[in-house]
Amino acid sequence: AAKKAGRNRYAWFDASMERELHARNELETGLRAAIPRQEIVPYFEQQIDLATGRLHGFEVLARWEHPHRGLIAPEQFIPIAEETGMIADLSLSVTRQALLAARDWDSSLSLSINISPWQLRDPWLAQKIIKLLTETGYPAARLEVEITESALFENLALAQSIVGSLKNQGISLALDDFGTGYSSLAHLRALPFDRIKIDRSFVTSINDNAESAAIVGAIARLGESLNLPITAEGIEDKAIAERVLALGCARGQGWLYGRPLNRTNVRKLLAERRLIASAAATAQGADS
Ligand code: C2E
Ligand code: MG
Ligand code: MG
Ligand code: MG
Repeated sequence: AAKKAGRNRYAWFDASMERELHARNELETGLRAAIPRQEIVPYFEQQIDLATGRLHGFEVLARWEHPHRGLIAPEQFIPIAEETGMIADLSLSVTRQALLAARDWDSSLSLSINISPWQLRDPWLAQKIIKLLTETGYPAARLEVEITESALFENLALAQSIVGSLKNQGISLALDDFGTGYSSLAHLRALPFDRIKIDRSFVTSINDNAESAAIVGAIARLGESLNLPITAEGIEDKAIAERVLALGCARGQGWLYGRPLNRTNVRKLLAERRLIASAAATAQGADS
């Protein structure tokens, strides 16, 4: 009987693995078709200057507007896009849509885009991003690129050359999710970063966990001595915002300021705050 149960368990396990594999293949096939159809779209998360409350700009976050399954989060498809190399096309498509959307926003506003480790294997990445800026007319000085530390392991020389080309154009560079993964202070010297973003795992727990608060404080002091301003991600309430500001984080983002918005809702927000370039607002009043 035990043997039989064991065999049944195996059979069940196989079936569930097969279902999982099938689901993954379906997602991959769907994703391949979704990119050229522009079903992968940019959402925009507000980035706030904490001392003044002023809107500094937005981080661009990919979402899959699936025709049957609704909105799909990047955790579901970015890993597949990375494994298959589709991330290159996906990211350029999302970036292009974001730059186009942002063209008529107020000229005080910036955009931050995420670059994944896989993309930093492409020797032409900087040229591709610069070409998008030229095509869309979006100014380089208002663009920031976010990379994580894991991007620095594979080919540091290539990453340095790509980043050098981007910075020559006036694009700035942020170190994303600092404090997680294989954090090493040496990474701060490996590339000419303009800013550090503290991972949200430390920020969301800052008022419940003494270690989190100590880590955020230490990173903020490190940033101050290296002249690198800090962004805190994952600010979910007012108490967190006040705490990270007191600890020395100049900028922040998170659900306190709202969930990431699609371009239509960004336009509404900016129109309310009179942050749409006025000529564009009248010319494109009907658009979106
Ligand atoms: P990330 O760059 O660290 O982005 C921040 C993530 O934290 C976003 O999740 C955002 O929605 C979430 N978040 C923001 N505020 C809060 C908060 O107050 N509380 C909590 N719990 N979460 C908050 P999202 O959009 O699911 O993105 C996850 C990750 O996917 C991003 O992490 C980024 O690494 C990657 N990603 C997203 N879009 C792109 C893209 O276009 N290209 C690439 N290469 N990666 C992307
Ligand atoms: Mg990011
Ligand atoms: Mg981050
Ligand atoms: Mg993160």
